[in-house]
Amino acid sequence: MINFDDSFKNQFLYAKSILDKYGFKATFFEVCGWIGKSSERKSWQDIAALQQDGMDIESHTMTHPNLNTMSSLPAALDYQIGGAKQCFLIMASIHQSLHILTAKDGIIQQSSVLLLNSIV
Ligand SMILES: [Zn+2]
Repeated sequence: MINFDDSFKNQFLYAKSILDKYGFKATFFEVCGWIGKSSERKSWQDIAALQQDGMDIESHTMTHPNLNTMSSLPAALDYQIGGAKQCFLIMASIHQSLHILTAKDGIIQQSSVLLLNSIV
């Protein structure tokens, strides 16, 4: 499995051509709130192109916080998880996937997982 995160533009500019050259597909974990916000991040057009070429787009939260600091803040956690899901649905019509979530640094505490279960 090949995956990328944090929505960097260079993933689209450089990594995609290498993936295409060797016939690999990858999963791109995107931070919805960062898309199109600066030149170093992907645009929504980049996301659409990746998806059209068979790449998997998944959520990497709304603004990339440490989810473990939110274990007692259901509304904040809902924004990061549920808000990001809505963001991808509205901005990119991405709804068939989004069954995977990565947390910042790939680490999430059990208390946050339990809260996530009640949200999604
Ligand atoms: Zn990240």
